[in-house]
Amino acid sequence: MQGNLKKLVMFDMDGVLLDSIPTHILAWTQALKEHGVDIEPDFIYLNEGRTGKDTIELIEKQTGRKLDWTAVYRRKSELFRRHGGNRPMTGTLEVLNEIKKYGVRSIVVTGSGHNGLKDILEGLYPSLLDNNNMVTAYDTVRGKPYPDPYLEGLRKTGAPAAEAIVIENAPLGVQAAHDAGCFVIAVNTGILPDSALWDAGADIVFHSMAELAPAIHRFLQTGSEPGLWKTKSSGYLIKRPWLTARKDHVVLPDGHENPEHWVIEYSNWVNVIAITKEGEFVFERQYRHGLGIVEYEICAGVIEDGETPLEAAKRELLEETGYCGGDWSLEMVTCQNPSVCSNLTYCFIARGVEQASGQKLDYTEDISVHLLSAKEVHSLLKADRLKQALMTAPLWKYFAENPLTE
Ligand code: MG
Repeated sequence: MQGNLKKLVMFDMDGVLLDSIPTHILAWTQALKEHGVDIEPDFIYLNEGRTGKDTIELIEKQTGRKLDWTAVYRRKSELFRRHGGNRPMTGTLEVLNEIKKYGVRSIVVTGSGHNGLKDILEGLYPSLLDNNNMVTAYDTVRGKPYPDPYLEGLRKTGAPAAEAIVIENAPLGVQAAHDAGCFVIAVNTGILPDSALWDAGADIVFHSMAELAPAIHRFLQTGSEPGLWKTKSSGYLIKRPWLTARKDHVVLPDGHENPEHWVIEYSNWVNVIAITKEGEFVFERQYRHGLGIVEYEICAGVIEDGETPLEAAKRELLEETGYCGGDWSLEMVTCQNPSVCSNLTYCFIARGVEQASGQKLDYTEDISVHLLSAKEVHSLLKADRLKQALMTAPLWKYFAENPLTE
């Protein structure tokens, strides 16, 4: 696989190169307390990556208090030093050594404005980081979550975003790196749920640098990240309530053009895995004209204008089955074919639903309602008897998370 290597790895510092976050939290909490402000550790984790000044401005906004930011930051830095915050992160030395082995360059991109960083990092990771091209709080006007620090790293090294990897631990840093167009490896070394990093735009999530060390070579060997297509012109072949087909003339990153890429524009859809208080699944049977079959399905429908996905899901369940109530949660957001479809389907689980009324169907709907046990639903899935992929995906996920007990 070698020969198609990435050109650059950009490392966030705190929580990636340095095992420093617990000390930052200690220092921030105490420095702010001395200025009459109490903060929770979550606040520091969620806002990690911001410059000291941006962090203090945010606290001022949230508390309505005016702080002397240079005094707070000076005190925080003093406390951080006193508590010996600059420890190496376990596993990072191995990650850096592995990257060096492949001849790929590593730099640091941090929101920190500490003057002695070069010496500290050189001391911890001798000759492993290209510290002449590091990016600190002094290099850009706007810090993370803006992409500017990572764009500056690309500018300094001359590497294109498509050939750069970023290793980040914080949601704001992940967002900055993603928006700079880089492939983002998030390493969750803190207390936030993984979802905070996925939602910020992580391409993959690890749980420690030690876990990443034996895996990093595979990400170095992936070559360029594919770029986005640009649309040169666009027009509609048909625009009807149930079918809208758009023709785009697109330009690929390498300049090739395709004058005819078709996109089907449906509205966004919902579907519902509804489970009664007795643990039975609310299924429907109806005729499906595309395949010409009658089959089992779960409740599904279109999100109407002005509705949230959850409102649409609740309305559809009541209209199609007469069931309502229960505890609702979003299970999955998916797309039947991202290449040619522009809509999303929001899949919900409703636990503890009850029958409240009869059905209220449109004239095109001929739906019978069936209660199935978990085992029966599972056997339908295993036998490949559910053909609607947007329904089988969340149902399989449900059974992955809630395995049959017998
Ligand atoms: Mg960090």
